[in-house]
Amino acid sequence: MGGVTPFTTIDFPGRLAAVLFCQGCPWRCGYCHNPHLQPREAAGVPWQSVLDFVASRRGLLEGIVFSGGEPLWQRALGPAVRAIKEAGFAVALHTGGGSAARMRAVLPHVDWVGFDIKAPFDRYAAITGVEAGTHARESLLALIDSGVEYEVRTTVDAALSLDDLHCLANQLDVMQVPRWVLQKRRGGPTHGMELVRLLQPGRSMTIEWRA
Ligand code: SF4
Repeated sequence: MGGVTPFTTIDFPGRLAAVLFCQGCPWRCGYCHNPHLQPREAAGVPWQSVLDFVASRRGLLEGIVFSGGEPLWQRALGPAVRAIKEAGFAVALHTGGGSAARMRAVLPHVDWVGFDIKAPFDRYAAITGVEAGTHARESLLALIDSGVEYEVRTTVDAALSLDDLHCLANQLDVMQVPRWVLQKRRGGPTHGMELVRLLQPGRSMTIEWRA
C-alpha cells in the first residue's frame, strides 16, 4: 500500500473514513497530486499493518476508501476489498476505471465510487498520455449497470477545450449519468461557473462546479 490517511470526512460521502492509497498507476496526468504513487514498485505500508490499523478503527470509522494511484491496477484489489468488508467497514473506491474487468469483479463489494473521467473517451491520451478511453467507458458502463452509488467528476485541465467538454457532457448524458462534477485543477482555470452555464442547457444531467 502506498500510504494511509487515518481520517477523512470528505472522501466517502456521509461516512467517517480512512483512505488507503494504492501504489501504481498506468496513466500520467499532468495534474497528478500523487506522482510518487505512479510507479508500481515502491516501499510502502505492508498489508498486515493496514489490516491492524483498520482493526484499531472499529467503532471509530464507518468506511475505508481505496484510492491511488489507480486501485484497479492492483491484482489483489478484490481480496483486499473483501477483507475490509469482512472487518465490518463500508468500502469506497476512487478510480479512473483503468481496468474494466477488475471494475466488474470488485463492484459487488463496493458501496460508493468516485469515478474520474479524464476526457472524452476518444481523447484520453491528451490527459493521461495513454489511449485508455475504452477501459474508462466500459468501467463506467459497468458501474452504472451495477446500481452502486457513484459520483462522476472531471478535472478541468487546460488541455480540454470547450468542445471537448461539450463532447464529454454529451457522452455522459447519453449514458444517463445523473450528475457530473467539474473540479478545479490546482492553479488551473477558475471559470467553472461560466463552464456550467455554457454546458448545462438542454441536458437532463446536473452539472456542478467544485472549486
Ligand atoms: S489517474 Fe490519478 S494517480 Fe494516475 S496519473 Fe492520473 S491523477 Fe495521478
